[in-house]
Amino acid sequence: MLTFAKTRRGAPTPRPSQERIADFNEIAAPFEALRLHEQSERCAGCGVPFCQSGCPLDNDIPDWLSFAADGRTREAWDLSQATNTLPEICGRICPQDRLCEAKCVPGQAGFGAITIGAVETALSETAWTKGWITPIKPPVERKQSVAIIGAGPAGMAAAASLREAGMQVHIYERSDRPGGLLTYGIPAFKLEKEVVLRRTDWLGNSCVNFHLNCEIGKDISLAQLRRKHDAVLMAGGVYQARQLSVPGASDKILVPALDYLIGANRLGFGDNVPDYDSGRLNAKGKQVVVIGGGDTAMDCVRTAVRQKAKKVTCLYRRDEDNMPGSRKELQNAREEGVDFFWLAAPKSIHDNGKVPTEIRAIRMQLGTTQDDGRAAPQEIAGSAFALPADMIITALGFTPDDLPKAFAAPDLETTSWGSVAVGRGRYDTSLGRVYAAGDCVRGASLVVWAIRDGRDAAAQIIKDILHKEAAP
Ligand SMILES: Cc1cc2nc3c(=O)[nH]c(=O)nc-3n(C[C@H](O)[C@H](O)[C@H](O)COP(=O)(O)OP(=O)(O)OC[C@H]3O[C@@H](n4cnc5c(N)ncnc54)[C@H](O)[C@@H]3O)c2cc1C
Ligand code: SF4
Repeated sequence: MLTFAKTRRGAPTPRPSQERIADFNEIAAPFEALRLHEQSERCAGCGVPFCQSGCPLDNDIPDWLSFAADGRTREAWDLSQATNTLPEICGRICPQDRLCEAKCVPGQAGFGAITIGAVETALSETAWTKGWITPIKPPVERKQSVAIIGAGPAGMAAAASLREAGMQVHIYERSDRPGGLLTYGIPAFKLEKEVVLRRTDWLGNSCVNFHLNCEIGKDISLAQLRRKHDAVLMAGGVYQARQLSVPGASDKILVPALDYLIGANRLGFGDNVPDYDSGRLNAKGKQVVVIGGGDTAMDCVRTAVRQKAKKVTCLYRRDEDNMPGSRKELQNAREEGVDFFWLAAPKSIHDNGKVPTEIRAIRMQLGTTQDDGRAAPQEIAGSAFALPADMIITALGFTPDDLPKAFAAPDLETTSWGSVAVGRGRYDTSLGRVYAAGDCVRGASLVVWAIRDGRDAAAQIIKDILHKEAAP
């Protein structure tokens, strides 16, 4: 029972930083069998599994850790995939330090949390290797069809649940590859693309129909989709980048984070990226400044390092304790040579047609706590300074797209901040037989929440369709 006190917490060993910045591959291999067993054994089997309540999917963590500790890997896997459609992805990229592992009792007692995410990844990789993951074969095929707008994690999770219930599933995706931000947003050094495409192939083999390069609102209207299918699930994410509004900020000088990351991911696929060739999305040899303190900012700084930037600095207006990004990503970025400029905010950008551009910034201090529980940054008078930059990347978050306009659906209700409005604990929108899930409802969030939404929205859709079928 007290193994957590005798055996040290162990995460998959990352490659040395100098080695890993030379490529875009993941920085650590999953646990092998011995470490999977050793680390699972550390679980204290607490009477109240707080780790489970820290997981948005309510994963039955203590039970699969117990099976894994006993060497019953197949049973551990069966339990872990029962509540999670994409466990090998969550295991890799969930910010466990804010979710399951944050609630781990041995962790809170100072012994180091059980490495839950790493065990989850290792179980899933074992399942893939051993051929335990096979296409979904529903007990009965139904005639009803569901359209899903968007092939990101919310759409993928919904598709899997709908197929399990025998529904015919059509995913409409505007991009040329499925996966949403898993494919084009998150860099390969956090999540190798084969891992994502293996899952989208699995959905394809489970008879999910992907319609790629097909944008709803442009190539096909929402009204057409509603006529063609028994239900429609909107799972298109959020893509409006927040702008930096200081004097001198312009599209010519600033590079939005997602443009930069999509460009880098496309290069990884071997695609042609003209903006990389022109230098706009290429950090090589440059002094790069990334503005922001979230996970997207961490992904940008680490991508710039791998593109062989001369110097990479992250500028963030709050301090380290108040940054929204994950601790493990901060540590990785530091190890890879990124400089952090905490408590500093840009005031103006000065482009005299010369390189480098100058960012004039000011130092900040943290004031009173706001409604969101975070301290408000305030400028320190007389503390202005200048920072040279050849490339400035803005990673200031995302706001919802104007979906009533994009979908020519003025009756689609949105919240006061623009996300799709759904009922409390429900997924139906103001349009009949149209549901919504993932970031387009929550705003920019996490993969694990998108999976949870997709899964639960599918459950509601199935219930509504079967209820209608049973109605006299
Ligand atoms: C750079 C970056 C790094 C991140 N890192 C992490 C991380 O480490 N861990 C984590 O948990 N979360 C991370 N996130 C957040 C996570 O990626 C999102 O919360 C999650 O992908 C949301 O899933 P989704 O399915 O709702 O939307 P998305 O993943 O955005 O997928 C939506 C899909 O819908 C498609 N689409 C949109 N509109 C249309 C339309 N009209 N017609 C057809 N298709 C359409 C889009 O092309 C896209 O493929 C990160 C986000 C970013 C931007
Ligand atoms: S899905 Fe994420 S939060 Fe849940 S157990 Fe896995 S790593 Fe932890």
